[in-house]
Amino acid sequence: MLQHKTIPVGSYCVNCSILWQGTDALIVDPGQDADLIVSFLSDRGLAPQAILFTHGHFDHIGGLPGLLAKYPDLPVYAHPSDGPMFGHPMNQMPPEYPRVAKPANLRDIREAPAAFPGFAFQVLETPGHTPGSVCLKFGDLLLSGDTLFAGSCGRTDFPGGSMAAMRQSLAALATLPPETTVVPGHGPATTIGTEVATNPFME
Ligand SMILES: [Zn+2]
Ligand SMILES: [Zn+2]
Repeated sequence: MLQHKTIPVGSYCVNCSILWQGTDALIVDPGQDADLIVSFLSDRGLAPQAILFTHGHFDHIGGLPGLLAKYPDLPVYAHPSDGPMFGHPMNQMPPEYPRVAKPANLRDIREAPAAFPGFAFQVLETPGHTPGSVCLKFGDLLLSGDTLFAGSCGRTDFPGGSMAAMRQSLAALATLPPETTVVPGHGPATTIGTEVATNPFME
């Protein structure tokens, strides 16, 4: 059975998710606090298989160097449209979030579900907050990144953001089963049903 733990990390309180099946684990959005993530994994004897990013913003990728120091061969997955954010001089907030170099093993997140079939997940392309924003759907669990928040949605006024794209992405998410649990990139969990009923950004 797939298990899931959310760990809020860094001063932007990004929800880092760890998913595991047996001893195989995936790490989503390790925004900071690599030590905390490594302890969680080693305390449970979990072997990370990959790092996945919902998008490339500095508050979501800040823990990458620390994790790669511990697990140098780990593949890293992001949408290619957000690839240029790695190493970009505007995508940092020192000292807590220094610039994160593009990892040598960066791959297209749309190929991750086929690479890790045991996790039976889908990558939903949901541009708007960034051009390469994705949501990750593991059964009835949706990791929505900074696309959908409880009662709100991600900002679209950063470079590459688009409110028109965001509206389309939210409309697509609104068609998911209402009982789908949503763990956003920041803040509390919710469900698709609750957001369709109450979120002013969702049709
Ligand atoms: Zn963001
Ligand atoms: Zn964020």
